[in-house]
Amino acid sequence: MSAVSQEELNVYKSAEARFEMAAQKLGLEDGLYRYLKYPSKEITVYIPVPLDSGRLEVFVGYRVLHSTIRGPGKGGIRFAPDVSIDEVRALAAWMTWKCAVVDIPFGGAKGGVICDPGKLSKTELERITRRYTAELSEWFGPERDVPAPDIGTNEQTMAWVMDTYAMHVRQATTAVVTGKPIELGGSRGRREATGRGVMICCDKALAKLGIKREGCRVVIQGFGNVGSLAASLMQQAGYRIVGLADVGGGLYNEKGFDSSKVIDWVYTQKRPLQEFPGGGAKMSARDVLFQPCEIAIPAAIENQITEKNANQVQARILCEGANGPTTWQADAIIDGKGIFTVPDILGNAGGVTVSYFEWVQDRQGFFWRESEVNERLLDVMENAFDQVVRYSELHKVNNRIAAYMLAIDRVASALKLRGIYA
Ligand code: NAD
Repeated sequence: MSAVSQEELNVYKSAEARFEMAAQKLGLEDGLYRYLKYPSKEITVYIPVPLDSGRLEVFVGYRVLHSTIRGPGKGGIRFAPDVSIDEVRALAAWMTWKCAVVDIPFGGAKGGVICDPGKLSKTELERITRRYTAELSEWFGPERDVPAPDIGTNEQTMAWVMDTYAMHVRQATTAVVTGKPIELGGSRGRREATGRGVMICCDKALAKLGIKREGCRVVIQGFGNVGSLAASLMQQAGYRIVGLADVGGGLYNEKGFDSSKVIDWVYTQKRPLQEFPGGGAKMSARDVLFQPCEIAIPAAIENQITEKNANQVQARILCEGANGPTTWQADAIIDGKGIFTVPDILGNAGGVTVSYFEWVQDRQGFFWRESEVNERLLDVMENAFDQVVRYSELHKVNNRIAAYMLAIDRVASALKLRGIYA
């Protein structure tokens, strides 16, 4: 099989291509098109960090604020070796569209540091996080730009961000960051929120296609926050999880997995997912997405379904938990196969929705029961799903372009009301 072009793997180009298609279909006026296409601000920070060995290393970090038209910037911080400014730009723009699709009052932002968390100690990661936050202490703020976890960062990272920011502004400011531990102003239900949002979208897609949930076969690529919790919640709800994968490889078993046992194997016993006893056929992490199933959930990284392999997807529903798992060149092939797609900016929006609830609770100083959080999340996700499908039917476009159109429409309307500050 020939290699996928670098052009196709550039996620910024993928984000741009979908934005352009949707803007054209909406008839977005030229000036607004240019305004919304580019980020509002970008910064590169060089972070000096003494390693445990005593050696001084300098890490490169980015923060991109794509839009604050509908509210403060909102978006995760990624720690990974292949972070690039183009990737952070794409992720920042997706945050703007995602927050608009679910109609929460945030703009879009994203950050990243080029580093390999697997090879750094906890104290080294803490120093990177604190210096990155200190460099951006005037940039972040509950009304300016509110970070959250992403690949390679977690609740502990967010606790360090909050503490560093608090030390700089000389007051406890829990709402500066979301995805925090519950003890520090985190929200109940945030950890499961993205996986729960994925499940809600799958439930809605099944209802739309008239497929029963019980026994419905699901493959999931990625076994981190999104993938493992989607697996656990969906199995409890009656789905049959037949394929799982993480960075070490994939497994497929028609009989179905007991997700809680796999979670225990990977997270408590710290064993490789692929060695899970009785796990069935071993394969590459990517091949899991091409196995027989009703629902395929990419929940790991970008660019997994491309022009070269999209034909191999056997699912009826593709529900994107990851950001950018499908390249824009693959979209037409997926559409041609009649697959019902729940695009990333809808499929994984449960996370930012509960991040919004966390920000609201922090600012109120009043915390909700988990059932209340889940109920509100269900309401937001179901509404957004219905609106995207309605847009798709009205404008005769696929769900992805419909989600972009809905989002761009909302952001452009807010922009027109605000006007342009001279
Ligand atoms: P995570 O770091 O918790 O987990 C990532 C998982 O992907 C791990 O199981 C890892 O082994 C696996 N993985 C990494 N590289 C892989 C590869 N090449 N092939 C197969 N598997 C691979 O990250 P996460 O928070 O679960 O995020 C996963 C995706 O979901 C990302 O695209 C992220 O941007 C997106 N997302 C996350 C959230 C959230 O709330 N955590 C919200 C919205 C979107």
